[in-house]
Amino acid sequence: MRVVQVKCPSCNTPIYSKERDRLFFCDKCNTLHVRDGGTDKVEYEIAEFNKSAQGEKVYMPFWRMYSSFVIRSKSVEGGQLFRLANWLKGGGDTGSLFIYLPATDMEPSALKYWSTTFTATPPRYATRLNFGGVRRLPASMTKDEATQMADFVVVTMEAEKPGVLQRLDYSLTVNDAKVVYLPFVYAQSGLVPAL
Ligand SMILES: [Zn+2]
Repeated sequence: MRVVQVKCPSCNTPIYSKERDRLFFCDKCNTLHVRDGGTDKVEYEIAEFNKSAQGEKVYMPFWRMYSSFVIRSKSVEGGQLFRLANWLKGGGDTGSLFIYLPATDMEPSALKYWSTTFTATPPRYATRLNFGGVRRLPASMTKDEATQMADFVVVTMEAEKPGVLQRLDYSLTVNDAKVVYLPFVYAQSGLVPAL
């Protein structure tokens, strides 16, 4: 396996990484940065594990994109509202929400599942300053790639209600994106959140 060595942009400490991870974390100064042509520091949060979490622990990186919506026009038949409309509090046509997207390489079905799950019900957690020795999955998706996929998450969620004739015209703006490391444990069924 190829070892990558980079220097922390904040304190110059060498960081070694064995996996193909686009995100580098400096243990010395708790800086996370992304190597994508240049060296950019990335805003991040590390979520605390549930105290009763059992089994092998792992952190999965997500891009959390704070996004604004403007609904230009909509028509709903069958009495169901768009999820998007449900998220926008107050019944107006503008609003904001957090869109979650896994930054780890995974199958499209898993990507769909985790992005829609956490976007529909944002995870709640206490934060911590470091990983506490817990392994983290490598990130393969850059901030730009995640931003371009934000629309995909919304479209995927809307498409989950078949058989209802709906039309929705909206615009989406990603205002900022940060990395959130969410806690998981390995179970028989696969990775399970340990929030
Ligand atoms: Zn550093």
